[in-house]
Amino acid sequence: MSDRDAKAFRDRIARIDGAGYKRYREIVGSWDLPGFTLFVDHAQSDPFATPSAVRVEIAPDGTGIPVAAVSTGARRLGAATWLAARFAEAASGVRGRGTGRSGEVQMEHPGQTVLPQTAVVVDDQGGLEARFSVGLPGRGRRVDGAGASELLLQTVPDLVRRTLVLDAAAAEGIVEAAETNEDAEALRDCLGREGLIAFVADGARLPRASGIDDRPLETDGVVPFETPATMRARVELPNAGTVAGMAVRPGVTLVTGGGFHGKSTLLRALEAGVYNHRPDDGRERVVTRSDAVKIRAEDGRSVQRVDISGFIDGLPFGRDTHAFTTPNASGSTSQAASIVEALEAGARILLIDEDTSATNFMTRDRRMQELVPTAGEPITPFVDRVRVLWDDHEVSTILVVGGTGDYLDVADAVVRMEAYRPADVTAEARSIAERHPTGRRTDPEAGWALPPGRSIDLASLDPRRGKRPTYVRVPDGRTLRFGRDEIDVSAVEQLVSRAQLRAIGLAMAQLTAEVGATATVPELLDRIERLLADPGLDALYPRGEPRGDLAGFRRHELAATLSRLRSLSVGGDP
Ligand code: ADP
Ligand code: MG
Repeated sequence: MSDRDAKAFRDRIARIDGAGYKRYREIVGSWDLPGFTLFVDHAQSDPFATPSAVRVEIAPDGTGIPVAAVSTGARRLGAATWLAARFAEAASGVRGRGTGRSGEVQMEHPGQTVLPQTAVVVDDQGGLEARFSVGLPGRGRRVDGAGASELLLQTVPDLVRRTLVLDAAAAEGIVEAAETNEDAEALRDCLGREGLIAFVADGARLPRASGIDDRPLETDGVVPFETPATMRARVELPNAGTVAGMAVRPGVTLVTGGGFHGKSTLLRALEAGVYNHRPDDGRERVVTRSDAVKIRAEDGRSVQRVDISGFIDGLPFGRDTHAFTTPNASGSTSQAASIVEALEAGARILLIDEDTSATNFMTRDRRMQELVPTAGEPITPFVDRVRVLWDDHEVSTILVVGGTGDYLDVADAVVRMEAYRPADVTAEARSIAERHPTGRRTDPEAGWALPPGRSIDLASLDPRRGKRPTYVRVPDGRTLRFGRDEIDVSAVEQLVSRAQLRAIGLAMAQLTAEVGATATVPELLDRIERLLADPGLDALYPRGEPRGDLAGFRRHELAATLSRLRSLSVGGDP
């Protein structure tokens, strides 16, 4: 018996029944319930406000999590993500009753991706902490004591026992999730050792349920991935054993084929392959090196002093492109800027789909070269840069092209998708390129130095809004409200969740400094990367209060978000 046990908790709730809603503050603190400790970290001020933050802590002997699920860092990530999905799904079935958000239980769902996240954290003994929110029940603006007792002493404990305390079948499930993630990590390490840039295992199921639903397409019509013999590689994974699949080598790789034959689906799987996926996702053995960045055209975006002269030079009226700035980029200038920014952040693999590219950025054919001579054409198309990127800078490109043969001259490997099955047509493509010369002139001189990292005025990263020192909101997965700014990240395609975007916003808030302080983009990214490695995501919470709504992100998505901040100020010679 203690003054913080279930009975004391029930009494405390009874005491405030019918009182003004603000008296919910009296239940803040920790409560020892049977099997776990419940922490009420924050009580909302009215039934319509953001629901209240709570946590559950379960000791190792109470979870039923097998040691095999938590014995390595990669296993713990897989296990924690599995638990978060399980709790979040069960919680979404809880129906509240009463005013506003009364009785809701919500946990941040991890989606299909395995990332470090703050909703569920497991330790190496099998103990866990789960963080979620609850809508404290109200009748009008009064405490609904019966509702609160039911929610906190029945509904939540039920959820905890059903999802976070594991029986034998669930124990198997969590070990599978742990092992799947360990294999994905091993596969990524293997890419580095073997000098590959991506791997797609035989049997992988790449198509998604829909353009807005990242879950696997579940129909009989799904064609499992099948590697062409000439591109087959075998890898040894700690749990799955020998796995065969398609190895993508560094250099310039084209993915071609007829319309609707699965080109974009393959590229999207490679984009997603920079992250690990949950078991049964279909892409859990599709892995891409983590410095691969999707590039697309994005007209309308803002660009701040990016040196795009390697692609675009000599704009009308002598506009300088060595420090190109615009609040409203065109298709081609946006795509050029996004490439230069990606390289600035350390990308060494570019992923490009013709579907989302500016045509005049990709190539210019013989006839156009004659009609519009180089002197009147500011764009050096990507087809004339893609080799230099690889030969001089070790930047690889994987490119989806169905519409232009100009790229056959510059490709190291060509894959043709035929009814969702890849074929290696590299030799055929070479012979076609020899038999049918394009007659194009390769645009200018070969050399091109990558520009140095930009210097940022840190005071321009201002997270304040009104009286709030840190205002970071993610109204949807595609917009970040940062201070008084609104950043449109809808074209940053490798951002996979709101939790990631929220974490990026809080990371940007950490970078702000007094007027006059500057740092280069790579320095800023390094700083945040170190913070994420140790102590981790929790360090991003501005007031140090733990919450369950953040997920890990790459330096590339941080860089892409930062670069789209319209008030970003970049220093340098005027
Ligand atoms: P492309 O880029 O070649 O035009 P997409 O990749 O957009 O083709 O694919 C066209 C359609 O085929 C999409 O609806 C996609 O979900 C579906 N699809 C892609 N790969 C497969 C597959 N392996 N099995 C079944 N359907 C697929
Ligand atoms: Mg396509």
